[in-house]
Amino acid sequence: MGNGVTYGQKLPLKELGDEQWQKKYAEISLLGLMLREQGISFVEFPINEDTEAEIVYETAKTFSNEGVSVSLHPYLHKELAPEIFDQNRYDDLERLLTIVHQTGEITGAPVPCVFHGGLANMKPHMVPEQKALLCAKTFFAAIDSLTALKYSNVIPFCETQTPWSASSKGALRLGDTYKGCLELIEGTSIGICWDFGHTFRASYLKKHDLYPDEHFLARVKHVHAHDTILLGDQHEDHFPLGTGIVPWKEYCAELARHEYNDTVLLEVPVDRFSNLEDLLHSVRRSVEMLNNLF
Ligand SMILES: [Zn+2]
Repeated sequence: MGNGVTYGQKLPLKELGDEQWQKKYAEISLLGLMLREQGISFVEFPINEDTEAEIVYETAKTFSNEGVSVSLHPYLHKELAPEIFDQNRYDDLERLLTIVHQTGEITGAPVPCVFHGGLANMKPHMVPEQKALLCAKTFFAAIDSLTALKYSNVIPFCETQTPWSASSKGALRLGDTYKGCLELIEGTSIGICWDFGHTFRASYLKKHDLYPDEHFLARVKHVHAHDTILLGDQHEDHFPLGTGIVPWKEYCAELARHEYNDTVLLEVPVDRFSNLEDLLHSVRRSVEMLNNLF
């Protein structure tokens, strides 16, 4: 049991320093301590092109002091949007990877870093699909070579995105199927972040099969674990495991068959819980359930 899998919790970087937020949940070091006691080894923060490095570093240091390391999840829609990436943007990419690298220097641990595949025919850049795909592939190739050359403590992933719609024409999130995600990282050594809720939605919309093939499973190195509830014909994601319709136990069994021993993030926003006790209870329960599957 366990098999070396380590568990993380998604946290809202900006809110963590907010007094009201801390009153409702906990101040940062106490939160780190309490999460660690529930079996959490790392916390994952969303960042973007405008995130101030100092906030990331300070927060990472506080968690690190409690024995909790950090992963980062860049949401890039401005100058680093994958669908507009080209060689003129290497410097911007390096600036971002430097922040990720420095974070790892502070925590003394590798930093999992989850990237998305970009958008086609969507705002703000409105790039046609073929062009967007080419740029996104250049984006991942650049990340692959930069991390190999200069930032060895940065562990990059490409996440399975949630489909924009059932259609494969018009507005698209790239990498919204098992195959699409593999295509983005073809020729690189970048691993996959398997988002359980996203791929379930893609199979619900008949964009791909319910379960991935062996090629996909062999590349998974990070997981975003959460459940999906169905409201009418609308999906709502990012609920605690066991409260919805995602076959997450079967997904974990597929990974266990591949002797999965990497990281699993509980991607449930803290504001799904009304207080610290409910959050910690849910975290502990999820870690226990997952540990029984690996
Ligand atoms: Zn995710």
